[in-house]
Amino acid sequence: MSDITEILIRAERLHQLEKAEIVALLANRVDDAELFGVADRIRQRYVGDEVHLRGLIEFSNICKQNCLYCGLRRDNQDIKRYRLEPEAVIELAAKAKSYGYKTVVLQSGEDVYYTVERLQTVIYGIKDLGLALTLSLGEKTREEYRAYREAGADRYLLRIETTDRQVYDQLHPGMSLANRLRCLRDLRDLGYEVGTGIMVGLPGQSQESLAEDILFFKAIDADMIGLGPFIPNPATPLRAAAGGTFELALKVMAITRLLLPDSNIPATTAMETLNKQGRTIALQSGANVVMPNVTEGEYRQLYMLYPGKICINDTPAHCRQCIGGKIAAINRTIAQHAGFRSGKNLGQL
Ligand code: SAH
Ligand code: SF4
Repeated sequence: MSDITEILIRAERLHQLEKAEIVALLANRVDDAELFGVADRIRQRYVGDEVHLRGLIEFSNICKQNCLYCGLRRDNQDIKRYRLEPEAVIELAAKAKSYGYKTVVLQSGEDVYYTVERLQTVIYGIKDLGLALTLSLGEKTREEYRAYREAGADRYLLRIETTDRQVYDQLHPGMSLANRLRCLRDLRDLGYEVGTGIMVGLPGQSQESLAEDILFFKAIDADMIGLGPFIPNPATPLRAAAGGTFELALKVMAITRLLLPDSNIPATTAMETLNKQGRTIALQSGANVVMPNVTEGEYRQLYMLYPGKICINDTPAHCRQCIGGKIAAINRTIAQHAGFRSGKNLGQL
């Protein structure tokens, strides 16, 4: 039996791995089908064949931060900025509901126009629709997180991006890993379902640091883990970077499933950007969530985190139908409930 097989057998039984074992899986070049198969089996056993759809609303591309990799960074002059008013966001959420989504995810740059008060308006409006609500608005104070939670937000998605301090500092001028961690701790304390994740293939990121990232997800027992390849954006300082590969991102995702058997793990848009079948393959390698875009019109194109983003000319209705077809084609079903982790039901739903 190969070392890889032995590691996988133990991981499937115990959902534990040492750092060196994770590095061995990442470095391995021959038996990846075995890793993906084990991750798929664990996904099936713990979270079943249901796929949770989360309707993604990208409501502002205005950002005060300057993350080196991101097209929304404040120094990027090469992008037309937009923001939707609270009423327009609620309207999109109502449409998402009409397409059958049970959860909407509100995502934006760190846009200071969106004060607590404006966000409360949006949150109340969306909760009145009876939807589960995930926020992904970046770093805020504990008081802000508390106010959103009290207004009814259920989940918060904040990728750690990398746990490697050196890499983190290089990519995030004026930000700190310590504050990112503080945010995640506050979110957990406040009773959110907490989502995090990373980009795979960042400049300076090693297999060791990816292994640390995976162990970090386990250590904080993340309820959701979103990961995708880093895709260099020509409008950013990292335009000439090598970028991540679909294959490595998929492996990091599959290993994450080994360690967190009942977490929600999305098949991400960035994966499909690098591989036409990316989300389908991810759903068969450990993922159980998809986040179709419900943003409308030109805003889809303007929310340009990275180039080549898929579906920028499609309508929300088309995306819903398209993803439904992909899920049916692999004999999976679309969940008809809000899809909290392990069926946990938070409060009002
Ligand atoms: N401002 C919020 C949410 C928007 S950014 C925040 O930063 O949390 C959402 C995610 O897009 C980021 O967490 C990052 O992981 C991803 N992203 C940004 N630029 C990217 C790029 N060039 N390639 C791949 N993913 C990218
Ligand atoms: Fe802003 Fe988020 Fe992009 Fe950083 S990753 S520049 S915080 S939108």
